[in-house]
Amino acid sequence: MNIAVIGTGYVGLVTGLCLAQVGHYVTCIDIDTNKIDQLQKGHSPIYEEGLDKLLRENRQQKRIEFTTDYDMGLADKQMILLAVGTPQKNDGSADLGALFSACRAIAEHLSTDVIVVTKSTVPIGTNERIQDYIKQHAVNNNAVSVVSVPEFLRQGSAVQDTFHGDRIVIGGENTEAVETVAEVYQPFNIPIIKTDLRSAEMIKYASNAFLAAKISFINEVANLCERAGANIDDVSRGVGMDKRIGNHFLKAGTGYGGSCFPKDLSAIIAYGRKVEQPLSILECVQRVNEKQMDILAGKVSKRFRGLKGITIAVLGLSFKPNTDDMRNAPSIPLIQKLIENGANINAFDPAATETAKTLLSDKVFYYETIDGALKGADCSIIITDWKEIIDYPIKLFKKHLARPIIFDGRNCFSLKIMKENGMEYYSIGRPAIF
Ligand code: NAD
Repeated sequence: MNIAVIGTGYVGLVTGLCLAQVGHYVTCIDIDTNKIDQLQKGHSPIYEEGLDKLLRENRQQKRIEFTTDYDMGLADKQMILLAVGTPQKNDGSADLGALFSACRAIAEHLSTDVIVVTKSTVPIGTNERIQDYIKQHAVNNNAVSVVSVPEFLRQGSAVQDTFHGDRIVIGGENTEAVETVAEVYQPFNIPIIKTDLRSAEMIKYASNAFLAAKISFINEVANLCERAGANIDDVSRGVGMDKRIGNHFLKAGTGYGGSCFPKDLSAIIAYGRKVEQPLSILECVQRVNEKQMDILAGKVSKRFRGLKGITIAVLGLSFKPNTDDMRNAPSIPLIQKLIENGANINAFDPAATETAKTLLSDKVFYYETIDGALKGADCSIIITDWKEIIDYPIKLFKKHLARPIIFDGRNCFSLKIMKENGMEYYSIGRPAIF
């Protein structure tokens, strides 16, 4: 099928390339000329495992192209995917400005009957608005059917998730359009759930809200473990082995971040308020997460009796490993707090340094190696559990740091190894080693 994807970010680029890989002809459209320039030259503007290979192969096979030109991009497409961002507004609700500007472009370039597939995460009722909006602004009478296919990929394993996801949700009011979308996704061989538009929208928000709730829950239990002298690693394992609970998303840490959980939680909470059905559990989930982001700064401050003048090697800046994405990364408020209180920051991240430079204080010093960041620092804080950081020899922490002290926000190391290596070690929900 000839498919256009509007918005060539994490979701749009990965989806476009994966659809091309299973044989469709895909045109990715974006208003960001820099992004499209890079892609036209064969360079991916984002880091995702397996993406470069897909880009190379599908450019060679001429199954993918990139443009900023809606005329060219939307011509003769039977299906148009919407994958633009839906960021958070000040009141917590979703900003649908980019989405409706893309819808306007679709309406103005309509030249054939199309199915519009919404991949962006949108509040309940938005797909109905999209349907009405395009119809209202359409330049001709071509049929438009809107179908919701919410996205569940995780950054860091986006390509793998697209080919091996748990389910594909297809929501729509037009059965024929739903069946056509199901056929497009059939080569992925993933279970498909067909439903109505509003239920599809709700599935996406409920899924993210539940996962965020699991994280805040286990973080609260971890904080309790510290008071109780229990070990959250064992507690999580013991709890997660119950099949009714499951062992995913039970890893204690410094809180969730990223481009989805914080904004999607805010959006569903705002929607709940709007329809007078407040979501009190989710409001607590948010509050617990915000508090959790402060925990490491508090531990460092307590240990050093203040932060003024100490140098801290911060390892990991992206909101999770295997991505360069810094959106709502816990490293941002943490580093800000440390700097505000007089600490000096040496930072290392395998992929996110360039993005971090645009977001963090210009007082941060960046290093290309872990060795460099650690040298002479008073302690190290681990924020993101990149493999490079987990695999870094403890002996080298000891060698390079001025004092052998680690504050580990992701429980990367076993207490036994830390003890054996004579480290002073503070983690989340586990006894301190000193
Ligand atoms: P992103 O910011 O990486 O990409 C969005 C792209 O849309 C950008 O390249 C931007 O330039 C482009 N754009 C904006 N307005 C445009 C317009 N009018 N025409 C063409 N292009 C336009 O965003 P993302 O992370 O890919 O997220 C996209 C959507 O998918 C969001 O609603 C998000 O909540 C949802 N989602 C994201 C993830 C994720 O892990 N990133 C997972 C599931 C769902």
